[in-house]
Amino acid sequence: MDFSYTPEQDAFRATLRAWLEKTSRETLGRGGDAMGASTASLLDVRDDAQWNKMREYHRKLYEAGYAALHWPVEWGGSGAGVIEQSIYQDEVLRLGLPLYGCNQLALDRIGPTIALMGTEEQRKRFLPKMLTGEEIWCQGYSEPNAGSDLAGLQTRAVLEGDNFVVNGQKVWTSLAHRADWQVLLVRTDPSAPKHKGISYLLVDMHSPGITVRPLVQITGESGFNEVFYDNVRVPKENLVGELNQGWQVSIATLMYERVSGGTRHPIERTISELVELAKSIDFQGVPAREHPYVRQRLAQFVSESRCLRLSRYRSLSAQLRGRVPGPESSFGKLFATELNLRVAMFADELLGAYGALEGGMAAVERGKWAHRTLAARGLTIAAGSSEIQHNIIGERVLKLPKG
Ligand SMILES: Cc1cc2nc3c(=O)[nH]c(=O)nc-3n(C[C@H](O)[C@H](O)[C@H](O)COP(=O)(O)OP(=O)(O)OC[C@H]3O[C@@H](n4cnc5c(N)ncnc54)[C@H](O)[C@@H]3O)c2cc1C
Repeated sequence: MDFSYTPEQDAFRATLRAWLEKTSRETLGRGGDAMGASTASLLDVRDDAQWNKMREYHRKLYEAGYAALHWPVEWGGSGAGVIEQSIYQDEVLRLGLPLYGCNQLALDRIGPTIALMGTEEQRKRFLPKMLTGEEIWCQGYSEPNAGSDLAGLQTRAVLEGDNFVVNGQKVWTSLAHRADWQVLLVRTDPSAPKHKGISYLLVDMHSPGITVRPLVQITGESGFNEVFYDNVRVPKENLVGELNQGWQVSIATLMYERVSGGTRHPIERTISELVELAKSIDFQGVPAREHPYVRQRLAQFVSESRCLRLSRYRSLSAQLRGRVPGPESSFGKLFATELNLRVAMFADELLGAYGALEGGMAAVERGKWAHRTLAARGLTIAAGSSEIQHNIIGERVLKLPKG
């Protein structure tokens, strides 16, 4: 495989890099990290000023043609090639910026699902405003008794005339407090086997009967919510796919989500910061950078992050060939989020007791590593926990017997 770039690709990178540096500085302040963007799904978007900056950044991303570089032209994207997409990902992650501006769920999973499985009217109605960031999306899958066992969901929708009437509750809904629209999994046939009676709806979050309540995470931020539905009316044309066949549609969204979960973490940047940390502190009485155990761990992290980058290139190639990602997307999601957690925990090990401090005079780098360790655990749970990814890889990729 040839990993060298053509002069045109080098020029694309240089232009993009200059644009990203200038635009993120002008709109977000110090760049992505100022926004906590390295944990994009946990972004503390309660803060209106931060959120408005993100929207402004998204608008510029869209105007410059970078918001959906990865979407085909017929969906309104830029239809960029694999190499340009991988350059985009490299450069955005290098700066710790979010890959999809402020509309991550729309651009990485919901838009592609509607484009592949929705009607022409749904594509025309919803895709353009996802791109511009005018309509923000969230994903209503999990319920208090349906997370890993998602097909056990109980939120009910009954067709009455031209509308579904929805009653029930979702939980852990990221961005619900900012969202204009939601993809919602509902039970439409309670008598059918559990995977067969589910439908996939597009719901206006401003509809009467929807109540959104924030949940506070271990980091103190509150990026996700409980959402309650009390006789919410959803037009029947907002059904994606067939009635009671929503499970297949939901799986497509989940596969896209897992690809994104394996690609959107700026892990190489985090590891470079860890190397810098090791250069600046002592460990067991010697400079950390000279300690053989520290050097071994750092080298291992760097090697693993390079493997992750290569596997990112592979899934980009597959998607560009129009393939809906399959169960193999679990590898990237599992590996990226677990590596991210191990890196943060190793920083804590290096820092010893100081690693527990998130603020105050003695906190190292303003408590950045303590915050990262707390946030990193959530990413191993979101989009299917690590245990569930192991099960999928065992059963659906390696074809092992069910446990
Ligand atoms: C940061 C974050 C953002 C999220 N955003 C959203 C969102 O926007 N929309 C949404 O719908 N949901 C969201 N979620 C919810 C997420 O999808 C669920 O938390 C996840 O699927 C796990 O479900 P659960 O919390 O109900 O845990 P449970 O399913 O109750 O699992 C509890 C424990 O049991 C283990 N376990 C369960 N079943 C098995 C099994 N068969 N084999 C082995 N181990 C098993 C799990 O690994 C876990 O350790 C988010 C979660 C997080 C952390």
